[in-house]
Amino acid sequence: MEVAVGLDVGGTKILALALDVSSGRSVATRQFPTPQEPSALRGALADAVEAALGETEGEGSAVAIGVGVPGFLGLDGIARQAPNLPGAVGVDLRVMLAERFGVPVVVDNDANCTAWAARLVDAPDVESLVAVTLGTGIGAGLVIAGELIHGAHGFAGEPGHMIVDVGGWECRCGQHGCWEMYASGNGLGRLAQAAVDQQRGGSLSAAAGSGSVDGALVGRLASEGVAEALAVLDEYAGWVAVGLANLVNLLDPAVVVLGGGVVGIGEPLRSRVEAALEAFPTIATGREVVVRLSSLGPAAGALGAAQLAWKSVSGGGWERR
Ligand SMILES: [Zn+2]
Repeated sequence: MEVAVGLDVGGTKILALALDVSSGRSVATRQFPTPQEPSALRGALADAVEAALGETEGEGSAVAIGVGVPGFLGLDGIARQAPNLPGAVGVDLRVMLAERFGVPVVVDNDANCTAWAARLVDAPDVESLVAVTLGTGIGAGLVIAGELIHGAHGFAGEPGHMIVDVGGWECRCGQHGCWEMYASGNGLGRLAQAAVDQQRGGSLSAAAGSGSVDGALVGRLASEGVAEALAVLDEYAGWVAVGLANLVNLLDPAVVVLGGGVVGIGEPLRSRVEAALEAFPTIATGREVVVRLSSLGPAAGALGAAQLAWKSVSGGGWERR
């Protein structure tokens, strides 16, 4: 069996996946802790590839390896900035893994990998989409006319720090009013806490007890029909839509795919975001933009990395069927 191996290297864990390239089916996933020290990190990535191949019970031979890395990667695949994975900065993972395993290696931004998986699995019917992951921050990948957009330096597709509220909440990047302060998974928790602080969230703080008022709590209470939670969800969907409106006006995608833990809220979130997006006059006139929730879950990045690796050696194959 020929397999493409995909690694999604996070700040705390590495997810490894083997993809049967003849069927497009992923056959194994494994998870490992991420060492921070650079040489230990390199060793862990090689071990993760071995482990993913091992899961195929000796039947798998790697034809390509893809690696998703969080941070700003140059067009050469080398990380220039990676606050959540400092051990990867300046390291040529492509050469390191290619020498070790003797196959082509693709290294890309983790959100770009996720976007590629979204394109093949969640939006195979369109050529242009924006995939946005709403997590601790916001990650995004842009697929326009069937290709990932990397920009002049490799840094394209980082809308989390678009300013959507001049003078708004201070972001860890040093700016004020960045989109991810409001529209990330953590942003949902911030909006909920703000509602409590402004006496609009008594039922939220009561339900939280001694715990924190976070996005998961809002999702749970919203599913139970709690009015104050639904009000926070409305507000959150509005913030998500503000950033999406900017992206749609810039890029004109046919589909927006939302990922991250908050998509567990499901249709109540999706429908609110789509309605809020359509309320912008520039969005609703003359086009239809469909908002979808990713079906891929936490393995999306590793799957996309494997799919990008396979694309690099095959030029297409099953993925274009
Ligand atoms: Zn920021």
